[in-house]
Amino acid sequence: MTPRVRFAPSPTGDLHVGGGRTALFNWLFARQTGGTFILRIEDTDGARNTEEAQRGIVKGLRWLGLDWDEGPEVGGPHGPYFQSQRKAIYDAYLAKLEAAGRVYTEENGAVRFKFSRTAITVHDLVCGDVTFAPTEEPDMTIRRPDGSYIFHFVNVVDDIEMRMTHVFRGEDHLSNTWKHIDLFHALGATPPTYAHIPLILNPDGSKMSKRDAGSAIEHSYIHEGFLPDAVFNYLAMLGWTPRADKEVLTREELAKLFNPADIHSANARFDLQKCQWFNAQFLRALSPEALLNASLPFLTSAGLVIGDEAMAAAAVYSVKEKVSLLKEIPAWVHYFFREDYPFETDVMEKLKAKPENANLLKAAQTALGQAAEWSESSVHGAIEAAAKDAGVKTGALMPLLRAALSGQSRGPNVATIAHLVGQESTLRRIDRTLSEALG
Ligand code: GLU
Repeated sequence: MTPRVRFAPSPTGDLHVGGGRTALFNWLFARQTGGTFILRIEDTDGARNTEEAQRGIVKGLRWLGLDWDEGPEVGGPHGPYFQSQRKAIYDAYLAKLEAAGRVYTEENGAVRFKFSRTAITVHDLVCGDVTFAPTEEPDMTIRRPDGSYIFHFVNVVDDIEMRMTHVFRGEDHLSNTWKHIDLFHALGATPPTYAHIPLILNPDGSKMSKRDAGSAIEHSYIHEGFLPDAVFNYLAMLGWTPRADKEVLTREELAKLFNPADIHSANARFDLQKCQWFNAQFLRALSPEALLNASLPFLTSAGLVIGDEAMAAAAVYSVKEKVSLLKEIPAWVHYFFREDYPFETDVMEKLKAKPENANLLKAAQTALGQAAEWSESSVHGAIEAAAKDAGVKTGALMPLLRAALSGQSRGPNVATIAHLVGQESTLRRIDRTLSEALG
């Protein structure tokens, strides 16, 4: 049987790390087995579900690249994929339970499901066999007096109707899984194979919630300048260790390696630093064009105007080793796109510290002005020659030029900066430094 799996979020808030990781494990399993990945919106709780939350979830999933084969926006043969639109189906299933003598109605109109009160074993792919003793809980309400259905019932009905073969979901659902299995049996259906995946804990060991740092996909990752591939890679490893000799892996590699048997049964520790490390690895592997593309929203919101795209791509590429998040890029490259860049305080102090700095910069300016061609190596050669003529080391002249061309004390090679901003701008920048900082 071709596997069919689903991600079934309740739209009560934006997509967070736990939900993203649950969706991702289902997706990996579907892609690795050639199965079908379904998105089902569990929006039966009218009071707590919002359209906005649902849009946020869809946006987060799309950003992570977790495309679904059936569900909202794409349709499919088992729709509608919103529980709020499936009432007739639930009514029909309730009638089946009635016919089987497994429900009764209370005076207030609530409908209760009669538990079988037998021992029930969950054969879980991650947790192993978990046996629940016959329950002593009161029978379970499955329909409220107002006619709305409760989660356990609609969740099971939809897993039957949508022909789910496997269910990967958070371990917090394990304690209720016997109720689901009881319902499957009462409805004459075979339960799917369950895989309850470990919870995600904060670094301090507390259970990660929607409010914790690093939790919200949109706010903590999209807005902070993470790359989807990096977050994907990191989330995949929250509770699973692929059998591979490296950690940085593409979606395709992860899908190939995925094996539910390797999912950890112990809880996973969330580590934002590690996620940033993944991000740095992925950033460094991008082409100049791809890096520029990914950085654009951040450059634009920093007010930088990109004129020459090839130059802009080379500029961001020149600082890729310095950053781990896209949002850090504007501070490293802003001066490529403007000539009125500020001078950092200590840079200004260093420039002013020695009276001969002005002469050294003038000598460099003359040499650079005479350069017949403008490449990184000719720029470098001109600076070396100017240093030699002035009787100082190249290493002494470079920081002055870096300060003049960028206003900063750190950055890519000075020759790279000069080459990218061009000869005219280089000479103008030295002029400005001489008059503003040293005048
Ligand atoms: N709507 C449930 C949740 O968001 C889904 C549980 C399940 O995957 O079965 O937790």
